[in-house]
Amino acid sequence: MTSIASRLAVLRQSLKDATLIAVSKTQSAEAIREALNADQRVFGENRVQEAKNKFPLLRQEYPDIELHLIGALQTNKAQDAVELFDVIQTLDRPRLAEALAKAMRQTGRSPRLSIEVNIGNEPQKSGISPNEIDAFLAYCRDECGLTVSGLMCIPPHDQDPRPHFLHMKELANHLAMSNLSMGMSADYKIAIDCGATEVRVGTAIFGTR
Ligand SMILES: *Cc1c(COP(=O)(O)O)cnc(C)c1O
Repeated sequence: MTSIASRLAVLRQSLKDATLIAVSKTQSAEAIREALNADQRVFGENRVQEAKNKFPLLRQEYPDIELHLIGALQTNKAQDAVELFDVIQTLDRPRLAEALAKAMRQTGRSPRLSIEVNIGNEPQKSGISPNEIDAFLAYCRDECGLTVSGLMCIPPHDQDPRPHFLHMKELANHLAMSNLSMGMSADYKIAIDCGATEVRVGTAIFGTR
């Protein structure tokens, strides 16, 4: 077994029912191929352009790849993102909701959408604050006609993630969101314990970037 295949095998043992999103940012098509050979099909990328360079070719061979955007999205790349990704996890502001709604009308595609939550209320971080999420969700649905089915977060890196993950689980229940994306290489087990339905893992699969 390659090391990527063996790391995937180890990870799968603690997933329970959560979906493993293999975060392939900065990784070569070669490394992604190794994961594909080990039956991984769900991938996460944080830049539209990088994903556009790598995935269309891989998709010709593996049409069942599911691609998630997990990085910040500029409004001028909304259309590219809608054309390429199956899931956009970083809906984080009204202007982007408007741009995505327009791109979806123009392309006829409708990727699944999740709202990025700034769960630690960190000033430098993108995402919607927990206390603004009801209003933002209402805006996305009522003003933009978007269907939002999930929440994602990156908790503050210098704090215990557990209370933040539990807060996310509460928000997801309150808003009846079926997808809860949280947990990375360092804390995916805690996230699953707290109710994550999808974890985003890069380093623990592909090694250090
Ligand atoms: C890079 C990244 C990950 C994966 O991080 P690892 O620590 O390598 O597992 C998860 N989520 C987001 C949003 C990322 O940018």
